[in-house]
Amino acid sequence: MKTLNPMNTFSHLIICQHCDSLFESVSLNRWQKAECTRCGAVLKRGQRMSVQTLLALSITAALLFVFANVFPVISISMEGLNNEATLWASVEALAHGRITPMAAVAGLTIILAPMLQIALLCWLLAFANAGRAAPGFRACMRTLEHLRPWSMLEVCLLGILVAIVKLAGMLNVHPGLGLWALGMLTVLLILISGKDIHRLWDDLADQLI
Ligand SMILES: [Zn+2]
Repeated sequence: MKTLNPMNTFSHLIICQHCDSLFESVSLNRWQKAECTRCGAVLKRGQRMSVQTLLALSITAALLFVFANVFPVISISMEGLNNEATLWASVEALAHGRITPMAAVAGLTIILAPMLQIALLCWLLAFANAGRAAPGFRACMRTLEHLRPWSMLEVCLLGILVAIVKLAGMLNVHPGLGLWALGMLTVLLILISGKDIHRLWDDLADQLI
């Protein structure tokens, strides 16, 4: 008796995440998208980037992450006194303040979650680029999906920009090299960890039996 793998058996079907309608999957060109006829949600987009491009962007993201954490994101000077702050220094400052639990939340959302996201992306894409499924593929893909809401670099970036604008009237505030790296990293992570990464499920389906 032949056992069927559910992934292969139903791979031609696609379920709307919003209203549970079932559709037959069609192949899409680069900038095309498929929408649910019942609720209008986007079901699938044409693949915009190849695995190789995604891997290259993930490695760039890893380098930018190092820059964003090593170089100061903001430097403040007043009457000859100069102070610079890195992302880690801001988490540390929160830990010594009155709202210590905030340090753990900040550390998780602006350092730990993005770091794990980048590491998992590099791991999965390095194997996918060689045409293989990475060890622990399913767990890694699911972790990546769960991490997405916890990675809040864009919120952090917005907060820093607001702080710079607010403080600029009173002090000499300069955006540091780390802030530029953080800005580029935020855009890259949104690009890489979006729906494009889901293609790995289809690309490596025959190896996941
Ligand atoms: Zn729908």
